[in-house]
Amino acid sequence: MPADTKALQVEGLRAGYGKLEILLGTDLAVGPGEFISLMGPNGAGKSTLLKTIFGMTAITAGSVSWNGERISGLRPRDILRRGVAYVPQGRCNFPLMSVDENLDMASFAFPGGKRGDRDFVFDLFPILRDRRRHPAGYLSGGEQQMLEMGMAMLLRPRLLLIDEPSVGLAPQAIQQVFAEILRINAGGCTVVLVEQNTRKAMEVSGRVAVLRLGQVIWTGPPAAITHAQLGSLFMTGRLDMAPGTSAPPTV
Ligand code: ADP
Ligand code: MG
Repeated sequence: MPADTKALQVEGLRAGYGKLEILLGTDLAVGPGEFISLMGPNGAGKSTLLKTIFGMTAITAGSVSWNGERISGLRPRDILRRGVAYVPQGRCNFPLMSVDENLDMASFAFPGGKRGDRDFVFDLFPILRDRRRHPAGYLSGGEQQMLEMGMAMLLRPRLLLIDEPSVGLAPQAIQQVFAEILRINAGGCTVVLVEQNTRKAMEVSGRVAVLRLGQVIWTGPPAAITHAQLGSLFMTGRLDMAPGTSAPPTV
């Protein structure tokens, strides 16, 4: 692949729910193996962008390409088949079923009756191996988030879209979940993370993109932006720079 090839390319994307457009011309390019965090105020369209990449909303204009192939317009199962996995916000497991049974349920969604690579998931999250016969509902919040990720990692995806994995977790569990996402990324999987915990997201990601009112208004490395500037971008859409400082790179 040429050096400038983007693994994920979102161009002029307009999408939403029925006639309601939420994404209003979103552009985002993510390189192979990158770890990018999407941030922005509530309602900006972050979750909608992940859902749209995964083929779950109505697209009215623009495109999504993955490794040079247009995937916008495909069904989620066909996007999954191309190595893209999506972990929605909140808990999606079956609380009365065991960890093993939950992984079975996840693999029913796979095309061609594939069972997925259970050992790969257990090697990534050894705690799930230890808890495999436990009902998912009895796991701690952090363990449940690992189960969510494990369900997504069964097909060994090359792109992980993950929405707010830290919500509702204790600080120690948050640390652990981020460490796991970093490990998945170190294994070569490209990561697009939506995260409200901006400090944590800036710590772990190689690049940040700020979404506001359905558009990416800024992107750059975490070191190029302060928390105050990030707050200003969220609130006003502008970087209110202190006099004498140089502007960080923009899109
Ligand atoms: P974020 O994740 O940035 O907080 P979302 O993408 O969840 O924002 O939501 C963006 C907008 O889309 C919000 O105004 C929200 O109310 C609306 N929205 C989200 N999901 C739906 C849905 N299923 N149907 C209609 N509107 C929705
Ligand atoms: Mg959201």
